[in-house]
Amino acid sequence: MSSSADTPRPSVLPIGEARRLVLEQTRRLDVKEVPALSALGCVLAGPVSAAWDQPGFDASAMDGYAVRSEDTTPATSSQPVTLLVRGVARAGAASRARVRPGTSVRIMTGAPLPPGADAVIEQEAVQRSDAAVEIRGPVEPGRNVRPRGSDMKAGTHLVADSEIVTPAVIALAAAAGRERLSIYRKPRITILVTGDELASAGSRPRHGRVRDLNTPLAAAFLKDLGLEPAALIKVRDSEATLVRHLRAASRSSDIVIATGGVSVGDFDYLPRALAQLQAKILFSGVAQKPGKPLTVARLGPALLFGLPGNPVAVFVGLYEYVRPSILKMMGRPATDLSLPLAWARLSKPLEIKPGRAHFLRVSLDQDADGYVATVLPGQESYQVSNLVWTDALAVLDGETSRIDEGEVVPVHLMPWFEGGCVLGARPRVQSQVPFAPRARPEKV
Ligand code: AMP
Ligand code: MG
Repeated sequence: MSSSADTPRPSVLPIGEARRLVLEQTRRLDVKEVPALSALGCVLAGPVSAAWDQPGFDASAMDGYAVRSEDTTPATSSQPVTLLVRGVARAGAASRARVRPGTSVRIMTGAPLPPGADAVIEQEAVQRSDAAVEIRGPVEPGRNVRPRGSDMKAGTHLVADSEIVTPAVIALAAAAGRERLSIYRKPRITILVTGDELASAGSRPRHGRVRDLNTPLAAAFLKDLGLEPAALIKVRDSEATLVRHLRAASRSSDIVIATGGVSVGDFDYLPRALAQLQAKILFSGVAQKPGKPLTVARLGPALLFGLPGNPVAVFVGLYEYVRPSILKMMGRPATDLSLPLAWARLSKPLEIKPGRAHFLRVSLDQDADGYVATVLPGQESYQVSNLVWTDALAVLDGETSRIDEGEVVPVHLMPWFEGGCVLGARPRVQSQVPFAPRARPEKV
């Protein structure tokens, strides 16, 4: 038997310290080699260099005629030079014919330049008759030729270590002759959602029940990072059941995201379950709103994030704490782990309860002086209706209780702001915000 009294509860941490502890406990995962296409969305564990020159040969950039430029020097429109056409060079099939003085070779875009030729005249510029072409002006050496190695030389570094594998990287890898790429393994993540009140998906909740938002939220969050949860588990509020699932999840996962039941309520079993499993608690409690009871623990080889169940606490916990940890595991450098930081002027004065940091959902507009942040109405952690308008989280340190209109605050940009997610963001205009503007300071 264990009770919440056994569970170590270090004092509530400042947000920066909590984040530091999370990252200190997060290690890059192992490196593996995979077929290049399977590396999409992963982080490169080594640079990609060109194995050979590209183009690998001097090639024609046009459909036309390969010539010796010196043959064309005397050509004018009144006294054209006539060259015999000897053979055809097409892409993928080199012409063996040598271009000798007074001759040319019919050539297609991408075909290797035949020996002897040093330029290509585009077909639009010549007069073709049977077995010869008339050329009405000098063709300078190198015209319409893509020289060997003019895109990349063997050994050139094309993509640096730690870059994300995008479609562009995959194309370059192919150009570099790489069929497989070395990447950091993606984390295996279990989502474990607790709560007796959770109605099953699709059913109409009975009185007192709520729809489960955290499972779809956490699963979509992962999917947006190119990850699939290893398991999605819904657990009743029962200590024994929670212990059983946590034990199994800790053995098969790099990260366990648990939601609900982390606080001090009678049916909050996570602290007791963690104590039973002898988890190493990094912290349980952060001086922040929303999500004060946030708990992070080492559970065997897995890192466990215990996010308080209110969906906005989950939202903030995922983007502010879980995301940096996932990105570090996936091999991203320390500078790229957080949501991008920007600065914005507040559109209205604001009053907050001091003493802890506030993550406020804001919409952003831009004017000549930069971003303007509007604190969205409905900042309680159960109020999800404004999430779709959330361009950024304004981060207030909680040291001052009143922030004036026009004061500049740090904001963390959400990945979907300004086209950061796969399908791009939709254009935003202020008038779309479906709430009346406020005159008085918003109290949060
Ligand atoms: P808890 O952290 O378990 O005390 O839950 C805090 C609040 O979040 C309660 O109002 C729960 O009903 C609600 N909640 C917990 N889990 C979920 C979930 N998966 N989806 C929606 N609301 C939830
Ligand atoms: Mg609960």
